[in-house]
Amino acid sequence: MGRVIAVTNQKGGVGKTTTCVNLAASLVATKKKVLLIDLDPQGNATMGSGIDKNAVERSLYDVLVHDVPIAEVSVHAENCGYDMIPSNADVTAAEVELLAIEGKEFRLRDALAIERAEYDYIMIDCPPSLNMLTVNALTASQGVIIPMQCEYYALEGLSALLETISQIQEVLNPKLEIDGLLRTMYDPRNSLTNDVSKQLTEYFGDKVYRTVIPRNVRLAEAPSHGMPVMAYDKQSKGALSYLALAGEMLRRSDQ
Ligand code: ADP
Ligand code: MG
Repeated sequence: MGRVIAVTNQKGGVGKTTTCVNLAASLVATKKKVLLIDLDPQGNATMGSGIDKNAVERSLYDVLVHDVPIAEVSVHAENCGYDMIPSNADVTAAEVELLAIEGKEFRLRDALAIERAEYDYIMIDCPPSLNMLTVNALTASQGVIIPMQCEYYALEGLSALLETISQIQEVLNPKLEIDGLLRTMYDPRNSLTNDVSKQLTEYFGDKVYRTVIPRNVRLAEAPSHGMPVMAYDKQSKGALSYLALAGEMLRRSDQ
């Protein structure tokens, strides 16, 4: 049974999508079978995986609202080696339409029930908000990865997210656990970065991944070519750091 992992943080621009695409591609590089679900109507993970969000026949909308099986909606991202459920502006409507559907919090979990056996990892790229789509991600997942930039306001936003996660654990999904906090766009020369990073490890201990993702221009360039950074520049620091993260994740899951 594949492990379902939501990559989430209600703050935008912290590296959720970058982490999903590049960690998923790194897991593929270690011979894992991966499904990436783009849960953000902006469709950044879809475009960044080399799939034209406006040209797809079906999207996550059809899965969430019309019960179309995942296998009929998923497409293979050639450049990345994983399958994905694309997203586009239609998914904004799903957010509203879901509210009228019975069992609205469990739509994604139920859709994944059959599909989990097909994959080693199913990663979910969450939108930058704590809405019904994010609730669906957290209800469907066993693990959560929280990417964050080590800046002053990062910790403030984190408490709201942790509160949401514990509510979901209590009410909807007792199996949910935080797999790890990931420091992204890391700049060790910045003293504030170091302070926040220190606070983070003091408070969360082993939950903070040892691997840090440095600020690396290749990571920012790769999406415009519709490929993960390891296909764009496999020697770059960005590529090596996401491969290291996949390694750390796999070692942790063996323990
Ligand atoms: P989110 O999905 O949380 O909104 P993104 O992954 O889209 O965040 O990242 C926001 C922006 O920062 C994007 O333009 C992305 O290319 C860039 N970016 C993300 N991680 C890095 C990094 N480690 N180094 C440089 N640029 C990055
Ligand atoms: Mg994003």
